[in-house]
Amino acid sequence: MSRIPPPNPARRHFLFTLATASCVGIAALPASRALAQNAGSLPHLSEEDPLAKSLGYKANASAVDKAKFPTFKPGQDCSLCRFYQGTAGQAFGPCQVFAGKAVSAKGWCVSYSQKT
Ligand code: SF4
Repeated sequence: MSRIPPPNPARRHFLFTLATASCVGIAALPASRALAQNAGSLPHLSEEDPLAKSLGYKANASAVDKAKFPTFKPGQDCSLCRFYQGTAGQAFGPCQVFAGKAVSAKGWCVSYSQKT
């Protein structure tokens, strides 16, 4: 005659934690892969895009209208912005402000915020 072991709360907690961590890991994997794969395939943000226009986006920061955007300082560009998600050396990369588009590493918009 076999006996069923009594419930073990520590074991139950361990199994629950393991299952939860596995689910979160599996769910996050496609998102990180998608971001890496999309970095090169995202359409480039146009300066004529309505949101880009409203935020003064320029693909080349040297073309920023300094009178209209006095917060712009020479030397600032997307590659130094905390919203930029491209990797070093890439000409374009994703930006958290312009979802689904790639911005120029040499670009700028009024949402610029220096990476810390
Ligand atoms: Fe560039 Fe930053 Fe503006 Fe995005 S938020 S376009 S990275 S300056």
